[in-house]
Amino acid sequence: MSDMSDFDYDLFVIGGGSGGVRAARVAAGEADAKVAIAEESRYGGTCVIRGCVPKKLMVFASTYSDMVDDARAYGWDLNDGDFHWPKFQQKLSAELERLEGVYQRLLDGSGVERFDQRAKLADAHTVELSDGRSFTAKHILVATGGRPVRPDIPNADLGIVSDDVFNLETLPKSILIIGGGYIACEFACILHGLGVEVTQYYRGEQILRGFDGEARALVADAMKGRGIDLQIGTDIAEMARDAEGGIRVKSTTGAERSFETVFFATGRSPNTAGMGLEAVGVELGRKGEIVVDAYSQTAVPSIYAIGDVAGPPMLAHKAEDEGTAVAELIAGKAGHVDYDVIPNVVYTYPEIASVGQTEEQLKEAGRKY
Ligand code: NDP
Repeated sequence: MSDMSDFDYDLFVIGGGSGGVRAARVAAGEADAKVAIAEESRYGGTCVIRGCVPKKLMVFASTYSDMVDDARAYGWDLNDGDFHWPKFQQKLSAELERLEGVYQRLLDGSGVERFDQRAKLADAHTVELSDGRSFTAKHILVATGGRPVRPDIPNADLGIVSDDVFNLETLPKSILIIGGGYIACEFACILHGLGVEVTQYYRGEQILRGFDGEARALVADAMKGRGIDLQIGTDIAEMARDAEGGIRVKSTTGAERSFETVFFATGRSPNTAGMGLEAVGVELGRKGEIVVDAYSQTAVPSIYAIGDVAGPPMLAHKAEDEGTAVAELIAGKAGHVDYDVIPNVVYTYPEIASVGQTEEQLKEAGRKY
């Protein structure tokens, strides 16, 4: 496919997460394009380094306390043991390094040229690296992902976000989790399973907004039944350091209590700042996300955007599918993602999985289900 008459590369990908790496590999491998990728942090992105993968390993770790109880019920004579967080962290960090290496080798093996540094747009066909070098590309793909956000309240920086959980030096004895989405509910279950006393505040009527009503209620009841103090219709109003080094929290219902840690799971924001996007004509949406059409193309025809930076659903498999589609598209094939059937799983206890519309959405649309 390579059409190198005018450009250094056929495709320059900014961001080495699930979506960016997939697009680069497919374009270089199957479509035979000349491809470069820039990544300022670690290859693998949110999913591999600070999201799905470490989270899922924590899910596995958190289920053993139940298994011990089950084993006892089946006649095993087992003693209670403690979860050793630093030991787990060591294993976790080794596994993440292994996976990061796999990602790098996949890129190298596909002939993708790697630049391990930050990149931004200089114009519709030019990428500028942080070391000052510039490269031109026929197509540029922005796959810079997103980052967790804290609510806008005083002292919010006393709380942690999902990126921080995996690096905690010790597991807290008590934690307050704010939010009712994927991250809040998954970590409420994980941390409870690891022996942490978990309180969760969710400002709305029921957790997991957007999922099937019956499933939401089932998960909420199961979480409460396991001993998670899930408080619906409640939000954090104030927070401050207390005399013992914990965090004193006042809720919107007027209750006051101290927690060792406060964890904000209050959504994620696209990484679009300082990228030179608006200056080259790429349109941004209300939440800073890159506005794209059904083919991941931005307002500037040579620039595409995929994954979390292009807005929800923020799911790694969606980003990967979009990456494949963009690689196919620039190779002249009709790459396209079917946004109506993106499956999702929430790793609560019990886990829930869904695909397509909810019962409520079908009823509202007057459709049979
Ligand atoms: P979500 O958007 O899923 O949930 C954010 C939650 O925080 C909502 O309950 C929201 O309430 C609440 N919230 C937002 N702002 C505030 C605020 N200022 N004060 C109090 N509460 C607030 O985001 P997450 O952070 O849980 O996860 C981000 C994304 O990451 C998810 O959307 C998902 O795409 C992805 N993810 C996927 C996973 C998976 O596939 N298993 C696992 C983890 C993350 P309200 O509902 O009222 O808006």
